[in-house]
Amino acid sequence: MNPFIQLGIRHDIVNAISELGFENPTPIQEQSIPVLLTGSNDFVGLAQTGTGKTAAFGLPLLELLDFEENYPQALVLCPTRELCLQITNDLKNYSKNVKNVHVVAVYGGASISDQLRQIKRGVQIVVATPGRMLDIINRKAIDFSQVKYVVLDEADEMLNMGFQEDIDNILSTTPDEKKTWLFSATMPAEVRRISKKYMDDPYELTMGTKNTGNANIEHEYYVVRARDKYAAFKRIVDFNPEIFGIVFCRTKIETQEIAEALIKDGYNADSLHGDLSQQQRDKVMKRYRERSLQLLIATDVAARGIDVNDVTHVINYSLPDEIENYTHRSGRTARAGKTGVSISIVNGKEIGKIRQIERVIGKKFVKAEIPTGFDVCEKQLFALVHKVHNVEVNEQQIEQYIPRIMDEFKDLSKEDVIKRFASLEFNRFLDYYKNAPDLNASFEDRPGREGAQGDRFNRTGMRSDFTRLFINLGSVDDFTRGDLLGYICNTTKIVGRTVGKIDVKGVYSFFEVANDDVNKVMEGFKGVDYNGREVRIEISGEGTSERRSGGSGYKGNRGGDRREGGFRSGGNREGGYRGNKGGGGFRDFSGKSREDRAERKRRY
Ligand code: AMP
Repeated sequence: MNPFIQLGIRHDIVNAISELGFENPTPIQEQSIPVLLTGSNDFVGLAQTGTGKTAAFGLPLLELLDFEENYPQALVLCPTRELCLQITNDLKNYSKNVKNVHVVAVYGGASISDQLRQIKRGVQIVVATPGRMLDIINRKAIDFSQVKYVVLDEADEMLNMGFQEDIDNILSTTPDEKKTWLFSATMPAEVRRISKKYMDDPYELTMGTKNTGNANIEHEYYVVRARDKYAAFKRIVDFNPEIFGIVFCRTKIETQEIAEALIKDGYNADSLHGDLSQQQRDKVMKRYRERSLQLLIATDVAARGIDVNDVTHVINYSLPDEIENYTHRSGRTARAGKTGVSISIVNGKEIGKIRQIERVIGKKFVKAEIPTGFDVCEKQLFALVHKVHNVEVNEQQIEQYIPRIMDEFKDLSKEDVIKRFASLEFNRFLDYYKNAPDLNASFEDRPGREGAQGDRFNRTGMRSDFTRLFINLGSVDDFTRGDLLGYICNTTKIVGRTVGKIDVKGVYSFFEVANDDVNKVMEGFKGVDYNGREVRIEISGEGTSERRSGGSGYKGNRGGDRREGGFRSGGNREGGYRGNKGGGGFRDFSGKSREDRAERKRRY
């Protein structure tokens, strides 16, 4: 039997959500639907965005309301216009096979008369942002005296945005007997207070730990000098050719400046902030949603309620002033069970803030190194190789040219042809990055100050009771740091906490293990192969591939020009390597690659 039917959802609705691809309930749906369907509880659900919250409250609402009657029976309050439209749309989709369901979206920045007209025609569910809702109530254009259910979605965001008073006023027009369902990603004292104020012994459901971010998010930080921040940021982006990211800045001006600089440097980026008109914001969001925009540069306020799936990276170009906002920012990635990375680029003085965030989210950050120019070249080369390998060939169109192409290549072996194709782009990367400086600030996470107490570090900042090992697997095998950690622990049966810093490169990686575990790791990997390739572990140093990155000549040059220009623009303003001409290529490639990645993960 369909699991949603088992939860008590009727066939008509289950058919509709099946079409949306909902086969199994998400954890929050599984746990909240049975409770909410009773219709007899107030409810507090602590859950991140992207966990399936909308259906968690939306499906029970559709079961509980009487759609033969045309008066407002449910009110959903949410912080932003984006979210308001999203929820309305979702509810309409879930209920498309149910007769006479009327859902109205009420939000600012759009014609109020249209909304009033829709309300007048008869409505059972109103989804609203608080400001406009109150405006309509004050015009006496709606009667909430028979409302049975009020949903406060993203309650923490609504309070952050200063809607407390509006919410109070709106709720005072609803009957005392109604049930209130509150959802929030975090539980600051103010949310606790409103739950006490509006609810009677609510049923509480916590997905994950309170205030904790999603477990599928890896948190990383990079330490750079303030003047190198932009160059470091671009390196990180270049090192992640398939990035589909949201970049957070602190101010509107910074947001605008970074976006303009990126566009000038040939990146596929645009900005989203409060100085744009609603129309401009909608346009940017549409492009981002369609993935024809790869990097969205946003302020905290403008990015509220953004619910785009498959965001691979959140980048904190500037750390948020309020730590709570870090959870909201990072929650934009790793939605709907996916994984994601939240990156912070900080200077030495901001390390303390990273430690504070770690305490709040209850999770450790990994200190990562800004990739060297060589690392970027290698990564881009293999991204290109994957792209060539996976490109869809238009047999019909290309066929006519094949004889001529073959003729041109007839004096070259297959190997030569491949080398030349790869070099076409690789030479450009090498040329661009040949004098690229090391952008890592020489900060050491000293013992007794920020680091683990009592740890001893050697000159390079590595703990002297740890050994650095080389492994011939890396990001081209689709390993992230977290993947590699899991793989090492699974293969060797050592525990995660005895693994130190992990540095994932292109075709290889380095990781540190406690000196006592070195033999166990070496033994554990004996005879192991990965996708048909023998896995090789070596103690890093003389004779290992570390020399390739350390001594390649692509880093160093500290005295050089520190302002890296646009890697992608270079002399090639036609969109650079990643093609910033609408993102078709990007979309295809990233989709394919995610499948590959899932497939590889299944295999090991
Ligand atoms: P939400 O947290 O409600 O914004 O949902 C996040 C995303 O997950 C949306 O794109 C939903 O369409 C999707 N989603 C919600 N529930 C399910 C489910 N049971 N199965 C598959 N996808 C879902």
